[in-house]
Amino acid sequence: MLGPLDSGTMGTVLVVASDRHRLHAPLAEIESSGFQAPFEHPGRADAIHAALAADDRFEFAAPDDAGLAPIEAVHDPGLVAFLERAWQDYNRAHPGTHDVVPDVFRMDALRDGLGGFVEPVSIDAELGRWCFETTTPITEGTYAAARAAVDIASTATDRVLGGAGVAYALCRPPGHHAPHGLYGGYCFFNNAAVAAHRAAATGSRVTVLDVDYHHGNGTQQIFYRRADVQYVSLHGDPVRAYPYVTGFADETGAGPGQRTNRNLPLAAGTDDAIYLGELERACEAIAGFGPDLLVVSLGLDTYRSDPICDLAVTTEGFARQGELVAALGLPTVVVQEGGYDLATLGENTKRFLLGLAS
Ligand SMILES: [Zn+2]
Repeated sequence: MLGPLDSGTMGTVLVVASDRHRLHAPLAEIESSGFQAPFEHPGRADAIHAALAADDRFEFAAPDDAGLAPIEAVHDPGLVAFLERAWQDYNRAHPGTHDVVPDVFRMDALRDGLGGFVEPVSIDAELGRWCFETTTPITEGTYAAARAAVDIASTATDRVLGGAGVAYALCRPPGHHAPHGLYGGYCFFNNAAVAAHRAAATGSRVTVLDVDYHHGNGTQQIFYRRADVQYVSLHGDPVRAYPYVTGFADETGAGPGQRTNRNLPLAAGTDDAIYLGELERACEAIAGFGPDLLVVSLGLDTYRSDPICDLAVTTEGFARQGELVAALGLPTVVVQEGGYDLATLGENTKRFLLGLAS
């Protein structure tokens, strides 16, 4: 369980970060039926880092090596082992490939009526076994970058468990789309789920509040049947927004996790006033659950000029979001997810964090 909040670092927000995220640098992503320059690229985390480093209200720490255990606590070890070797295996079969992307998906469905699933043997088929879409290339450094992101989330969680009131995990690649046994949606390992499970394993009740534009299907799936971790998400309505098949309001948890899942789908064009009203509803649901610790999946892609989303949140709106979350009065680990408007990403992140620390 948690001790009293540490007041020794009042006035500063702890940022856990590493430049190892730059090891994941795809050349292109296949999106909207074409090859595009990646929206999810190293410049995102660098822009956030630069904005926070220029402000003395933030202090930085490097991550500790958390090892594989935190990842395998929330993911299929087969997925972890696959991601460690996938780029090398693919390049043995197809030398000179920079971005590795599946050609096929769910080939097991072709065996309907043939007597069950057959584990794929070729690397080409294995990609389709573990990946669910095309925007998430594996590059030579992807596994190392994804491991570093987990180390960052783990270290930030440890700091909050140790008494820091707020810690920000500058994770990249992001994580909330990765369920137990798949990668996709720019996500390899679910950093927020790692943080939540790590805190829950100490006996804490934990809520994951996901304010990214996209529904965190991976986080929802990992905790859907658990009573000790609540998942609450505001996101673009899946009738129009990625990932399309999860995030509906009637997904409320199952088994021991009944009523521990809350989805608040939002209409296109949702502005600060509507968004903050929905966030108040989310906070009421969190207060009803009564967590000891909060993990925030922070996406800044609800911003009004985000290039791949359609909400209308402003920079001031992010500050107000942080203040509303602060009013819960909970030790909080903030885990970076999406946000693709490079010009405002650093400032918007900063304003959320300062609102939270206010
Ligand atoms: Zn997103």
